[in-house]
Amino acid sequence: MDKQELAEKILELKKKKNAVILAHSYQDIEVQALADFTGDSLELSRKAAGTDADMIVFCGVDFMAESAKILSPDKKVLLPASEAKCPMARMADAEGLRELKKENPDAVVITYINSPAEVKAESDCICTSSNAVRIVEHYKDRKIIFAPDRNLGNYCKIMTGADMIIWDGYCYVHDEFSIGDIYIAKHEHPGCILLVHPEAPADVLEQADFIGSTSQITKFVEDNIADMDENAGVIIGTEVEIARILQLKFPNKRIYPLADHAVCLQMKKTSPDDVYNSLLNEKEEIFVSEEVRKKALKALNKMLELSK
Ligand code: SF4
Repeated sequence: MDKQELAEKILELKKKKNAVILAHSYQDIEVQALADFTGDSLELSRKAAGTDADMIVFCGVDFMAESAKILSPDKKVLLPASEAKCPMARMADAEGLRELKKENPDAVVITYINSPAEVKAESDCICTSSNAVRIVEHYKDRKIIFAPDRNLGNYCKIMTGADMIIWDGYCYVHDEFSIGDIYIAKHEHPGCILLVHPEAPADVLEQADFIGSTSQITKFVEDNIADMDENAGVIIGTEVEIARILQLKFPNKRIYPLADHAVCLQMKKTSPDDVYNSLLNEKEEIFVSEEVRKKALKALNKMLELSK
């Protein structure tokens, strides 16, 4: 099947099964082109929950499809590439978190959305990379257990001064950014400002002109790049796909990834063929037990309440 034929078959199946296709913004551009919605994981799950679709095809990684199931228990949720599992999410485990809670009975547990459903279920409140500082700020009068991303946790600690026990997890894509990468990028692209995701290490964040989630970085570029003159531009310190997409949107502007090594291999496991096969065979279906789902939803709703 050629690309056009495949896209038509996917559209046909999508209509027949009343499905909605979601693609995270780190997915390959050709997968994003098949989606009804693209963006951040929680934003996508909330959009899908607001549709009357019977089925959600989530082009992303495991914890994202689980979040969609938490918000849409009556919809069938499919992960097209069953092996697409986020290594950082898998660094956290519910048993370890329960132990930590036992040792710190007065602590409040804030968990990053990039975590398994069982870990979310052990938490008082969820956060995203967009609202993590705000959520930590809200609880800063108490001791805080923060999981699983150590860099995001440290960033929140620096910004709020909160007393935090931080899980030692990390996203390899962002954790591997270094001062050396910044030196090379600034040397190769003089006049450009540096935008970095808070999953990057503290010494890299210190050099950034703007720190924000993927959607905040995207918005910053969309809002400001038109006013930049030809000698200015942006260096994007997050997964390489974001710089590629922004460059397509603004072909005449200077937009560069901070480093070519910032590729999430798990996000690139989904192909258009996988999307087709997933819709056709209704696989890989994601299940979350009702007990876990309800607890995780409570923590997620707490975050939504505090983000108003
Ligand atoms: S970019 Fe990082 S946090 Fe996101 S899915 Fe890949 S490994 Fe996980």
